[in-house]
Amino acid sequence: MKEKNSIFMVVGAGLTGAVIARSLADGGYRCVVIEKSDHVAGNCHTMRDLATGILMHCYGPHTLHSDNNEVWDFVSRFAEIRPYVHRKQAWVNNVLYPFPVNLTALKMFFGKQLDEARAAELLAGKARPYATRRPRNFEEAALAAVGPEIYRGFYRGYTKKQWGRDPATLPWKDLGVDIVIESTDGRVVAIEVKATASPDRRDFRGLEFIRDNYPDRFVRGVLLYTGEQTLPFGDRIWAMPIDGLWRWGAVPMDPSG
Ligand SMILES: Cc1cc2nc3c(=O)[nH]c(=O)nc-3n(C[C@H](O)[C@H](O)[C@H](O)COP(=O)(O)OP(=O)(O)OC[C@H]3O[C@@H](n4cnc5c(N)ncnc54)[C@H](O)[C@@H]3O)c2cc1C
Repeated sequence: MKEKNSIFMVVGAGLTGAVIARSLADGGYRCVVIEKSDHVAGNCHTMRDLATGILMHCYGPHTLHSDNNEVWDFVSRFAEIRPYVHRKQAWVNNVLYPFPVNLTALKMFFGKQLDEARAAELLAGKARPYATRRPRNFEEAALAAVGPEIYRGFYRGYTKKQWGRDPATLPWKDLGVDIVIESTDGRVVAIEVKATASPDRRDFRGLEFIRDNYPDRFVRGVLLYTGEQTLPFGDRIWAMPIDGLWRWGAVPMDPSG
C-alpha cells in the first residue's frame, strides 16, 4: 500500500476490525476505529464480574481453535491464552456420565465391575440380537454395535440433537471410521484405511465427522491409502501412504502434533 499518509477507517471493533486495525497500525498506517456499542471485541467481549472478580464472556464462551503459530503469536501479544480441554458429559436418568461412553461410564451405567474384556463381552451380548451385516441407518448400526440400553440412554438423543433428525432416518454409510484410538485423558486419533491411490472427499467424511464433533479431543485423523505422498486434507487430517506405517519419516508432523 502506498497511501502511508491516508487514514483508514475501520467500522466495528470486533475481532475482525480490531485485528485489521492493529495490523494496519503495526504496518505504520494510521487508522480510526468506529464502534457503535459501548465496548470493544464484539461478540468476544468479556467483562469482570464486580462481585466475584471472575472474567465473564458477555455473549457466550469462546475458545480459540488454531494450529497456526502465527495466530498464537499474534493473540499472545494481547492476552494470556489458557489451555482448555472440553469435556462432554451425558445426563441419563438423573446421573451424569462421561461421554462418549468409556469404561467408567459402562461400569456406572450397568453397576458392574468391568475390565475392557468384560465390557466388550457385555456389549457384544446386548448387541447380538440386533446383529446385521448391512445396517440401513444410524439406529440399526448403533443397536448392532452397543445394544438398546446404551443406544437409547446415550446415543439416540445426542444424535438427534446433533443432526436435528431421528437417528432412524440418518444414513449410516460413509460415517464410520476403521480405527479410533482414545488415550486415557480422552484425546482421539482416528484412522481410515482405503485401497485407493486417489482418495476423494467422501473418503474423509468419517474423520471429518469425528473432528467436527470432538474438536478439542481430536488430535489427528489419518487416511491410509495406496498413494506415495503424505498430504494434508484440511484441519488435522492427512492422507498417508499405507507403507508409512513401517517407513520412518512418513508420519505427518503438523504443529498441533
Ligand atoms: C455465543 C457465541 C459463541 C461463539 N464461540 C466461538 C468460539 O468458541 N470460537 C470462535 O472462534 N468463535 C466463536 N464465535 C464466533 C465469534 O464470536 C465471531 O466469529 C467473531 O466475534 C466475529 O468477529 P467480528 O469482528 O467479525 O464480528 P463481531 O464480533 O460481531 O463484531 C462486529 C462489531 O462491529 C460493530 N458494528 C457493527 N455495525 C457497526 C456500525 N454500523 N458502526 C459501528 N460499529 C458497528 C458491532 O457492535 C461489533 O462490536 C461465537 C459467537 C457467539 C455469538
